[in-house]
Amino acid sequence: MQSIPDHLIIAVDGHSSCGKSTFAKAIAKRLGYRYIDSGAMYRAVTLFCLRKHLFHGENPDMENLLRLLPEIEISFEYNPARQENEIVLNGEFVEEAIREPEVAGKVSIISNIPEVRSRLVEIQRKLGEKGGIVMDGRDIGTVVFPQADIKIFLTASPEIRAQRRFKELREKGIDISFKEVLENILERDRIDSTRSVSPLKKATDALLLDNSHMTVEQQMEWFEKVLHERFGR
Ligand code: C5P
Repeated sequence: MQSIPDHLIIAVDGHSSCGKSTFAKAIAKRLGYRYIDSGAMYRAVTLFCLRKHLFHGENPDMENLLRLLPEIEISFEYNPARQENEIVLNGEFVEEAIREPEVAGKVSIISNIPEVRSRLVEIQRKLGEKGGIVMDGRDIGTVVFPQADIKIFLTASPEIRAQRRFKELREKGIDISFKEVLENILERDRIDSTRSVSPLKKATDALLLDNSHMTVEQQMEWFEKVLHERFGR
């Protein structure tokens, strides 16, 4: 019986709002690995652009964005205030700021810029250099770590994803209709899957998991079986 190595790279890709981060965090905890949220990195660059007033309507000011790009420093550090590893943008914990609707509304524009992608992919590869990492996103198994040891492509039906997101937003006191949430999810799917650079798609060697009718515990039972098949325990 083999033991599970401590240097694996695990990629979790999939659609918006299908519980990738919850699942990826649970896997990281199970294995004692680092969890990295690559979507947070695209959101942090978007926040940077908003703060520097680099948007003219839907269009980013490319000249200044490319000039300022080398100034953007992103890392993940332990935030004692919230007792979690969180994203740091130029020395500031920004986990809450990047979840604002203003950032969410502009992030797909920023994530479609090749220069932004190559800078973030470089940082992501550095973070994964020694392994022992679970990273979630859209292109982790296809572009960032095509050599990842375990690749998971997570999905759920748009209606179920919209229900989960709707509940989450309502709990936060955000007044939005179910129809709007569903439309937003379908639109993000469309943008993520049809963009020219690194579109969302399942890597040919990724394991597909539809969690529409699964709890996190059931997803972890599925993951234990994957480990068992690979490592015999
Ligand atoms: O995962 P999350 O929804 O926070 O990601 C925010 C946005 O960042 C996504 O809608 C997607 O456009 C982009 N993204 C990406 N590549 C990744 C992760 C996220 O393009 N690896």
